[in-house]
Amino acid sequence: MRIRDILDRKQTFSLEIFPPKGDFSVETAKGLADQIMAQTQPDWISVTFSAGGSGNSQNTIAISSQIAQSEAQTTSLAHLTCLGSSKKDVDAYAAACEEQGVQNILALRGDHAPGREVIDFEYASDLVAYLKETHPQICVGGACYPEGHVESADLDEDIRNLKKKVDAGVDFLVTQLFFNNEDFYRFRDRCNRARIKVPIVVGIMPFTSTKQIQRMAFNCGASIPAKVIKRLVAAGDDLDAQRRAGTEYACEQLEDLAKNGVDGLHIYSMNKPQVAADTHDCLVSCGYLKA
Ligand code: FAD
Repeated sequence: MRIRDILDRKQTFSLEIFPPKGDFSVETAKGLADQIMAQTQPDWISVTFSAGGSGNSQNTIAISSQIAQSEAQTTSLAHLTCLGSSKKDVDAYAAACEEQGVQNILALRGDHAPGREVIDFEYASDLVAYLKETHPQICVGGACYPEGHVESADLDEDIRNLKKKVDAGVDFLVTQLFFNNEDFYRFRDRCNRARIKVPIVVGIMPFTSTKQIQRMAFNCGASIPAKVIKRLVAAGDDLDAQRRAGTEYACEQLEDLAKNGVDGLHIYSMNKPQVAADTHDCLVSCGYLKA
């Protein structure tokens, strides 16, 4: 199903997983997706494409297709980055998605790195425009940044660039993770003022340890509020207490977002079924999801 059609009908609950890398096999990834689907019945699952420069993009479509063709026929969203890709590469990717029952692509630029230079696309908006022109039946999502993208001079510039992506035809947006909901509410107001009208799905990552949140904050430029630092200081070196602090904090964020009305909630599950199940349960408790 096209994600925009689901978003036009209801508030969604979705999850992100990443495809196999290292000793994590395709079979394990399929098993993980099955487990998550059975536990949480998400509206859709997104599958990353070489996120963080991991190079694990070759199985993105295979895993997305397995999700779409599973017994539950859960909608899937295959990520695609355009740095280092030619128009021919994008055509092949989109055609493979269509052949394998994947109707949604998250069109991203990716991060600059050796081997990821500009070929035919400089920005995500170029990829969005190309996909809309050449594969109009594919539903195309894009990324957005409540605290601004790390390369942007300021939030105004970032919103002006985001508007270009929306004007290129993006069907919906998914936010980068953030730890302070006020940043998202301010961002949503700015989008309204800029006449950005597409649905904005909110991405939340329950942190699993002090080390992990530090790495994520550095990688995506998300700021860590003092209230999170206090909880992690209280957890000390106890890894289980750090994980519990992350789950509790994410659930508080999600409940507040649910109360304030959002188009959709998307969980960066980090391939951890427990994270998916915990966030699902808290959204059932607060009435956002049905039991
Ligand atoms: P863009 O929208 O192109 O923006 C990049 C920068 O350029 C921004 O600073 C923007 O303000 C600026 N800009 C945009 N258009 C213009 C213009 N016309 N003129 C001047 N400046 C402009 N990375 C992966 O490698 N794999 C993944 O699977 C992946 N999944 C992600 C999922 C989500 C929901 C998010 C939020 C990010 C994801 N990323 C992933 C990270 C993403 O690739 C990086 O954040 C990347 O640096 C920017 O990608 P973008 O699509 O937002 O780029």
